[in-house]
Amino acid sequence: MTLISFIKPIGRAILDTLLPPNCLACDTPVETDGQFCLECFRKTNFISAPFCDCCGVPLPFGEAGGRAGICLVCEATPPAFTQARAALRYDDATKHLILPFKYADRTESARGLALLMAKAGAALLLRADQLVPVPLHISRLRQRRYNQAALLAWQLGRMIKKPVQPDALVRNRVTVPLGPLGFEARRSELQDAITVRAKNIGGKNILLIDDIMTSGATANACAVALLAAGAARVDVLTAARVPDPRLT
Ligand SMILES: [Zn+2]
Ligand SMILES: [Zn+2]
Repeated sequence: MTLISFIKPIGRAILDTLLPPNCLACDTPVETDGQFCLECFRKTNFISAPFCDCCGVPLPFGEAGGRAGICLVCEATPPAFTQARAALRYDDATKHLILPFKYADRTESARGLALLMAKAGAALLLRADQLVPVPLHISRLRQRRYNQAALLAWQLGRMIKKPVQPDALVRNRVTVPLGPLGFEARRSELQDAITVRAKNIGGKNILLIDDIMTSGATANACAVALLAAGAARVDVLTAARVPDPRLT
């Protein structure tokens, strides 16, 4: 870590206490930390009913789906996790918020995103014994210098006073981008990519935390590993959710 990269976050933290907080998605000042300005609030698509009771994917209004409240994908291939929830739809509006947080050091967004996640995932947080972030491979961690999922997990853990296990899971290798792959190819790409390092998850309800859920394949691979290691149940909470890539 260079001296500049060490000093920058400290300087930003001092500025944050002196200046009024900005909107989560733009530079407009707002009253409290973690708020959207009116303009951004209007543009932001929060996930609201109807959504799949299992994976949380937004469903078109009037869609019959499969079994009551469950999307056809979950009905055909039930995921290893019990329930997944997300605060925001991942679209052009939320990209302005999530991508700088993920790649460009806008780590101050973590608290605001965690506040939105706490609302969307209240029931999941209530029954969780431990919060576990989706891991980055060590090479990615060195590039970015932080794991955005771990920042969200820390913020949520502090808000609800539950333990966070940042190193419970390890990513053994860099996986190729899963977006263009089909269901089976994703599953085989993630085969053995995640292992459990924590020893104390037996019988525990684990809440997996991440920034974006796309197909759910990574969350599923983490859930498979955690359940094999003895977890009683795994739920998933993310800041944003890609509407339904699995149908394309
Ligand atoms: Zn704004
Ligand atoms: Zn579903």
